[in-house]
Amino acid sequence: MIFDLFHTLLDGADGERDRVIGEMAVELGIPQQDLVAAYHSSWRERLIGWDVEQTIETLAGRLGHRPTDAQVTRAAALRRAFAIRSLGRASMATLTVLDKLRADGHPLALLSNAAAETAAAWVESRLAPRFDVTVFSCAVGFAKPDPESYHAAAARLGVPPETCVFVGDGADGELAGAAAVGMWVLRTVEHRDTDPSWDGPVLSDLGELPALLSGAGVAEGPASGGGRSPR
Ligand SMILES: [Mg+2]
Repeated sequence: MIFDLFHTLLDGADGERDRVIGEMAVELGIPQQDLVAAYHSSWRERLIGWDVEQTIETLAGRLGHRPTDAQVTRAAALRRAFAIRSLGRASMATLTVLDKLRADGHPLALLSNAAAETAAAWVESRLAPRFDVTVFSCAVGFAKPDPESYHAAAARLGVPPETCVFVGDGADGELAGAAAVGMWVLRTVEHRDTDPSWDGPVLSDLGELPALLSGAGVAEGPASGGGRSPR
């Protein structure tokens, strides 16, 4: 089983993240709305390459600012603290579902389009020990919906993509990407209704997963094809 992270395993806290970017802007002496906009428009660059200091220096530079090392350090600390805070909010219900899935014999992979500070925070989170493998875009240099992302997760699990179940909210076209490599796709709306046009099974709560999978006989591996009904 392969899980997306933000808005799948926990709330992405997008509003709080933007407030933190605003606090970073104050530290850097940059108009808040300018840094937030630059942060949003650079998402792909941030997710497949830059660390947090590079992100700050590059975006500040694009906005015509040259912050001091001390300013960069303070701004980076705000961003890292948010990453740790947000990953710490995985609910006990979600952790229990993951434990149940593993107890049922499903190896678990995390496949996340995430920046370096998230990957660093992950290691210390309560989610990390529940997963067999992780594929962070910042670590591998490619992101969903590139097929390489899904193939990397399946390969690290040691199984063909066609036997994998992908669970995600649907950001970045990740559901179609998973279906394109033959995964069985389950869209979750537990935290956000990101991709309402997706034509396939929908989870209102991750707690539905163990029964859904056992009812679909997924322990033996699903047949190929994405988006089909499990029953
Ligand atoms: Mg997501």
